[in-house]
Amino acid sequence: MARRQTLAVAIPFSQIVFCGECGEIYRRVHWNNRGKKSIVWRCISRLENTGLVCNSRTVFEDLLKDEVIKAINDLLGQKDDFLEFLSNNIEIVINEQDTTAVAETEKKLEELQKQLLIRANSKEVYNDITDEIYRLREEKHNALVEEAEKKAVGQRLMDMTAFLKEQPMLIDECDEQLIRRLIGKSMVYEDKITVEFKSGVEVEVEM
Ligand SMILES: [Zn+2]
Repeated sequence: MARRQTLAVAIPFSQIVFCGECGEIYRRVHWNNRGKKSIVWRCISRLENTGLVCNSRTVFEDLLKDEVIKAINDLLGQKDDFLEFLSNNIEIVINEQDTTAVAETEKKLEELQKQLLIRANSKEVYNDITDEIYRLREEKHNALVEEAEKKAVGQRLMDMTAFLKEQPMLIDECDEQLIRRLIGKSMVYEDKITVEFKSGVEVEVEM
C-alpha cells in the first residue's frame, strides 16, 4: 500500500499531459542542471525520435501542479453553475438510454433461428436468413457498445457531481487520485495550459 502511494505521487500527470504543438505526450524527466536537480515535463518529441519536430516548452513539475490546481479551483469557484450544467447533462444521458433496442434485436434473432431450423430441416435454401442473422448480430453489438458508452458518460458526470458536492472549498494540493478522477486530458501550449475535465468541460489557465 505504502509503495503504491509513493508511486502514485511520483507520476501524477502520466498519460494526461499532451503537447499543444505536436500532439504527442509529455513525459516526466529528472533534470540535473549543473548540480541543480529538478523534475520537469517535456514533450516526447524533444526526447525521442517521434518523426515530429517540436519546440514546445519544458515545464517544471511544480508549475504544472500549480496550474492544474488553478484549473480545478477555477471550476470549484463556479460550482453552482457547474452543478446545474452536470445535472442537465445527466438527465439528457439518462433520457437517451434505450435498452429496448437490444431486447428487440434479440427477439428478432431468436425468431430467425427458429425459421432457419425449419428451413434447414426441410432442406430449403436459407442464405437470406443467415445474412439477416449476421446483420442483426452486428446491430446488436453496435447497440451494446453505444449503451456502454452512454453509461460511462453518465458515470463520469455523476462522479464529477459527487466530487463537487463533497468538496467544500478550494484545494491547495493536487494528488494523483484527484487528478485521475477529474481530469481527462491536459494540453501544454506556449503561454497556457488547457485542462479538460472528464465531464467534458475545459478550463484554460495562463502559464
Ligand atoms: Zn510536442
